[in-house]
Amino acid sequence: LDIYGKRRASFGPNIFVESQWQPFKTAIDSHLDNTWSAAPVINGQAVNTFEQDGANQPLDSHTVRAPWNHNVIAGKVQYANAELARQAIDAAVAGQAKWQAVPASERAAILRKTADLYEENYAELMALCQIEAGKTTQDSIDEIKEAVDFCRFYADEAERLNDITHEFTDLAGKQSRQVYKARGTFVCISPWNFPLAIYTGQIVAALAAGNTVVAKPAEQTSLIAHFGAKLMYQAGVPSEALQFVTGAGEVGGALTAADNLSGVIFTGSTQTAQRINQSLNDHAQANGELPILIAETGGQNAMIVDSTALPEQVVKDAVLSAFGSAGQRCSACRILCVQEDVADGLIELLQGHMAELVVGNPTYVATDVGPVIDADAKQGLESHIERMKSEPTANILAQTPMSTSSVVSEEQSTFVLPTAIEVQTIDVIGGEHFGPILHVLRYKARELDQLIDAINATGFGLTLGIHSRIENIAEHIERRAVVGNTYVNRNQIGAVVNVQPFGGCGLSGTGPKAGGPHYVPRLMKLSSESFSS
Ligand code: GLU
Repeated sequence: LDIYGKRRASFGPNIFVESQWQPFKTAIDSHLDNTWSAAPVINGQAVNTFEQDGANQPLDSHTVRAPWNHNVIAGKVQYANAELARQAIDAAVAGQAKWQAVPASERAAILRKTADLYEENYAELMALCQIEAGKTTQDSIDEIKEAVDFCRFYADEAERLNDITHEFTDLAGKQSRQVYKARGTFVCISPWNFPLAIYTGQIVAALAAGNTVVAKPAEQTSLIAHFGAKLMYQAGVPSEALQFVTGAGEVGGALTAADNLSGVIFTGSTQTAQRINQSLNDHAQANGELPILIAETGGQNAMIVDSTALPEQVVKDAVLSAFGSAGQRCSACRILCVQEDVADGLIELLQGHMAELVVGNPTYVATDVGPVIDADAKQGLESHIERMKSEPTANILAQTPMSTSSVVSEEQSTFVLPTAIEVQTIDVIGGEHFGPILHVLRYKARELDQLIDAINATGFGLTLGIHSRIENIAEHIERRAVVGNTYVNRNQIGAVVNVQPFGGCGLSGTGPKAGGPHYVPRLMKLSSESFSS
């Protein structure tokens, strides 16, 4: 599997060229036996949660096991609690004035230094991506590159926005000007599926804007997040500007219930985004400003393929979009909609391509599809496959077995086999299934508009793939579909920072698009100053 796109990060080999790959692999291998740890960091101090609670009870902690082999222990995470969450917010709010006063060029320099440190530490970050998050080699490389790109792009944004001043003059010659200013403290709640890239992107965007941050990464991937935070501090992010908090949903709930926030940046499920929105409305009061919510949530993404499309290209792109990252991307293709005239041939090619996928241990360079993140995810996905097996209108088209070269135990891992299922309607799918499951739907050419309307009717609007060699048709689909990102005659994942700004609408998120020119401005406020000439 490969991913198109131009990234700014300069590190990383072509893994198909032995002479490039070998030294890289040796560097990663030197970290595969590491164990890491993570604990909350407040005002630069790692908090020992085993001594924190008022009654001297140790707080929760969590042992992280590799999703592809539970005997491999990645490390231990000490969780925070609501009290520590509050302390972290107070520390960030207290640090706001100081960070905001740091000139934009200095903030940008710190973010660029963070990018450099990420590149220098790629081997350890790669090992963490693979062990903690179960990412394949190529996905891990792309993960780190995207994180680096976010740092460099948002650093540029800090400087660009600092230089923008709009001046206005009234008829009497009185003048006013409008400038961008920081908003205040942001809580950044990031997902496990992009444990470094989205985690870093949220934080550095807020820091670039001059805001202070309380970061709470997903509990499944706190180790890499903690390592990333260490590199940010090392790059010069002051301890008052970034607070790091570990934990599960209760801790996130405590953070978003704080009454002195300026906003929350969240990537995760639509339901959680709705809860955060409610919490912000219920608690916002103290600083006289309604906090904003920036949410990137789920998708029920389709790829529409007409009879003029190039079948080999379609299948390559659909397989990458559906099964790359084990389908654990909100951008992933969930429904392959094929014009019925070409459906049989295309399904046959799809079956052939799926049979070639290597499913197994993600630390093997040849692996295409690794595990899903945890037992809950596996159980949910497998119960959907079971439901589809007993659904009279659905038909299992293909299921790729585990690769025999990959030694993994079924009980000690969380693999879900890549599965293609033919369905007759979108409704029968029943929402987003966040894993390696592709639904295939045939449509009649004359019913194209009904198909697009049915896709729109899911309420999600994230990505859409279009495969057609007729420009008018592609344009027509693009105009009628309500989605954030459309991809024509290519795969529909792996948006590149400052090349394909990424984000959806409807149930898929609030915008503004990450990695685009409107993101950092949204984290700032416009301030108007009037003066006489
Ligand atoms: N930006 C990623 C992509 O384009 C998806 C982000 C997500 O899954 O949250 O594939």
